Order: sequence, then C-alpha cells, then structure tokens
Amino acid sequence: MISFHSITKIYLSDVIALENISFNISQKEFVSIVGRSGSGKTTLLKLLLREERPTEGSIFFEGENLLEAGNKSLSEIRRRIGVVFQDYKLLDDKTAYENIAYAMEITGKSPEEINSEVPEILEIIELTDRANNFPKELSEGECQRISIARAIAHRPDVILADEPTGNLDPYCSQDIVRLLLKIYELGTTIVLATHDKNIVNKLKKRVITLENGKIIRDQEKGKFVL
Ligand code: ADP
Ligand code: MG
Repeated sequence: MISFHSITKIYLSDVIALENISFNISQKEFVSIVGRSGSGKTTLLKLLLREERPTEGSIFFEGENLLEAGNKSLSEIRRRIGVVFQDYKLLDDKTAYENIAYAMEITGKSPEEINSEVPEILEIIELTDRANNFPKELSEGECQRISIARAIAHRPDVILADEPTGNLDPYCSQDIVRLLLKIYELGTTIVLATHDKNIVNKLKKRVITLENGKIIRDQEKGKFVL
C-alpha cells in the first residue's frame, strides 16, 4: 500500500532528515514509527502527504508514483489519507459535532449523509454526550478523539498520526491508542509516529525505529528500544 524506495531527504539547511530509507506497509497494518525527537518521523509523514519532496528515491501509494502524481490524482491520494496531529487543529468556533460535519462537507458529502454519519462516528469515539461542546470546553483527550473522528470522517484507507499522545497524560494516551486500535480493527491502516515508549511497547505491533534519519530496526511485534 505504501512503499518507500531509497528515500533521502536533505533540507535546504543541509540537514539530512532521512537517509536511504526503504520500507513497505501493507493494507491493514498497524505500524509505529519510533525514534527520538529529530530522528525524522515527521519528515517521513510529510513525504507521504507530499508536503515535502524527497531529495532522492521514490514513494508509491497504492501502486501510484506519488512524486509524479498530478494535482488531480494527488488530491485523490490525499483523500485516502486521514491525518492526526499532536495539537488537534480543531476549529475553535465549531462544536465537536460541527468539526466532524465540516470535514465531511469539504469532501463533498451530502447533508443527509452527514446527518446520519456524524452520530455514528461520535459513537465510535465515545463522545456522543459531548457533541455540542466547543473545543475549549473539552479535555485534551476529548479534543484528540474529535480530531481522530475528523480524520476518519471521509473513510480514509490509512491514518497518519503524528505524536497524537504528545499533549496527553498516560491514562488519556492509552485511550487514544485504544481508539486507534479500534479503527485499525474496523479495517484502516494506521501509521503512528511517536516517541512514547509505553504505548508502543503495549501495542505489540510492527515497530520501525529511526535513529538520525536511518532505519535501525524494523520488527513485527516490536519494542521501542533506544
Ligand atoms: P521528528 O519528527 O522525529 O522529531 P523531524 O522529521 O521533525 O523529526 O526532523 C528531522 C530533522 O530534520 C531534524 O534535525 C529537524 O531539525 C530537521 N528539519 C525538520 N523540518 C525541517 C525544515 N523544514 N527545514 C530544515 N530542517 C528541518
Ligand atoms: Mg515530529
């Protein structure tokens, strides 16, 4: 589904963020990308969204060469990807319900679809009772659940989560990981970039370890060892 071939990314500042990285991720995998801050995790996700271009190498998404995709196919590819950030990026003037509905509107869903699907998604994230609250009235963990809801609203094939537990306490972090696992079990590929050892080690799923922009380990049922 996702394939990186000998990817090197050197930023203009001459920083080598990734060096000769190759890996494949299959459909319906749950993969954690781990490593210290600065090891290249965010860069890897940005390349996958083509927010950045590699200096060398090629990237395929569902068989399509991402670096050669035109604007139309690039937006189709991006539509198949849901993104979750550390800082949620919710719209403060919209309620939980409206944040999710708005994401659906953008992808062209009809008001009928939105009316029937938002409650379903609120149920998946177990936040039905907070549907009409604004982000500032919600806890950090609840905000992150809404941002995950928004990411799955257009039924993407893959979720990229960049440090989704970065602002959360250990208890809420576990909740978020449980939610990602649930979404994975419903059939979505998950790529989780994190420097949080505890959550990765409990997952017992594939772990790709980055160190200074290189893959130093790629293990099934891996552990975070650095
Ligand atoms: P991580 O997400 O693992 O913390 P990043 O991918 O953000 O790592 O960063 C990898 C390296 O690339 C770091 O040394 C960082 O300073 C550098 N870097 C990231 N983004 C840029 C940028 N836009 N311009 C220059 N250097 C960058
Ligand atoms: Mg990062």
